[in-house]
Amino acid sequence: VSGSSLTKSRYLAGLQCSKRLWFEVHEPEESAEADPALEALFERGRRVGEEARERVPGGVLIEGPPRSREERLEATQAALEAGAKVLYEASFEVGGVFVAVDLLERRREGWRLTEVKAALDVKEEHLDDVAVQLFVARRAGLDVRRVEVMHLDRRCRFPRLERLFVREDVSEEAERRARRVGRELGRQRRTLAGARPEVEVGPHCREPRECPFLERCHPPAQQDDLTVLYRLSSKKLAALRRRGYESVTELPDEFELSALQRRQVESLRRRRLVVDPGLGAALAALEEPIAYLDFETVAPAIPAWRGCAPYEAVPVQWSCHVRDGRAQRHYEHLAEPGADPREPLVLALLAATRDARIVLAYHASFEKACLTALARALPQHARELRVLSRRLVDLLPIVRDHVYHPAFAGSFSIKDVLPALVRDSGYADLEVRDGATASALLERLLLSPAEFTSVATRKLRRDLASYCERDTLAMVTLLERLRDLASGLDSHRAR
Ligand code: SF4
Repeated sequence: VSGSSLTKSRYLAGLQCSKRLWFEVHEPEESAEADPALEALFERGRRVGEEARERVPGGVLIEGPPRSREERLEATQAALEAGAKVLYEASFEVGGVFVAVDLLERRREGWRLTEVKAALDVKEEHLDDVAVQLFVARRAGLDVRRVEVMHLDRRCRFPRLERLFVREDVSEEAERRARRVGRELGRQRRTLAGARPEVEVGPHCREPRECPFLERCHPPAQQDDLTVLYRLSSKKLAALRRRGYESVTELPDEFELSALQRRQVESLRRRRLVVDPGLGAALAALEEPIAYLDFETVAPAIPAWRGCAPYEAVPVQWSCHVRDGRAQRHYEHLAEPGADPREPLVLALLAATRDARIVLAYHASFEKACLTALARALPQHARELRVLSRRLVDLLPIVRDHVYHPAFAGSFSIKDVLPALVRDSGYADLEVRDGATASALLERLLLSPAEFTSVATRKLRRDLASYCERDTLAMVTLLERLRDLASGLDSHRAR
């Protein structure tokens, strides 16, 4: 292992799991296809970093890649020797460990080292992050006297962005952890020099960050794995595993189960769809005209619209199918960049849903939260939005409490339920196929429109519209299928 194979991010990976560190160095992931949600995360970090620098102005920026590490180290040295008072991304390497410091300020009493985070609080991993920076910067000869984490302030409200950040003094904790860095680095080097370590999977695979090698260590769960049982407590799961059970189908008859879990067991044993006789009554309450509604939101780290806090979710798009008997119409709205998106969105929504007796959503607490947030932001429409909110009905619990198919694999998300119940349905033919990607793209479309050419913008808007439309069309298809199932028009045979 070359001496320079450790960096700050690898050090943090190694603290999470030795095997993760080993994979990152010896068997890294092939570069996967572009992931808009991940790109959005980087872009968010970059923008928050820029905002932070504006609050500590006049510094020397040590440019990152494509500049080589050597160039960055030299530029840092040159800036220090020239007496720079503030450095952005100052780079140091000691004993083969490379770090770049977000903000480095020369104060009368000594250097102040600051890590900028697009988070709302100081987290455990931030403290390890600054500790390794402190360790390396000190060894590089810097007299660091104070260590801070500069993070977003949840009390900030747009447009008062002068309160966007808080700076927390974490010197004491950073010092304490820095004392352990040397030993930990030695341990990590030994790990890297050896064979792949054996590490059991556990909560550390998702904390403090989801490990990128999850699929290598976790074999895909079988449809009848005990974990698919709805709300099975981890205590009961552990007890069953201790008694040697692995599959839902092996459970003894006397094992206590909820009605829903019993339906799951029956479905998995018979390997077919199981429908509760109460489904018809539950569906009878869904009187037409029905508006099938779905929102998409963005939650920018740096708030962009009046009254918004960092990471506040703002609805910027919706799709709505309105059905009355055989008549069906589709309405949609997608915000334009620039102005506050909320009022035009609400006006169009109120018009589209005016005649609906009920407003159907899947996992309706999300739509309810959107309507509540809109009512708060737009008091002039609050009354109508509250009336709309009272008409909301959730389709998810109707499915969950009456239907189970082995292919649900324990999930009642519409993206798992629909393809199991309706052949050739789903999202595979779309460019945008999940909510996280849609949200990431919406944020860039609305807040960084200059990134896209007009052709790319038009395509992106079409892709986003198709995705949101599919979400409400999925509910229309699902409800039709549920009605068929309730009226016995189906053989109930699993695919
Ligand atoms: S999935 Fe878990 S055990 Fe496997 S490398 Fe990642 S953190 Fe370690």
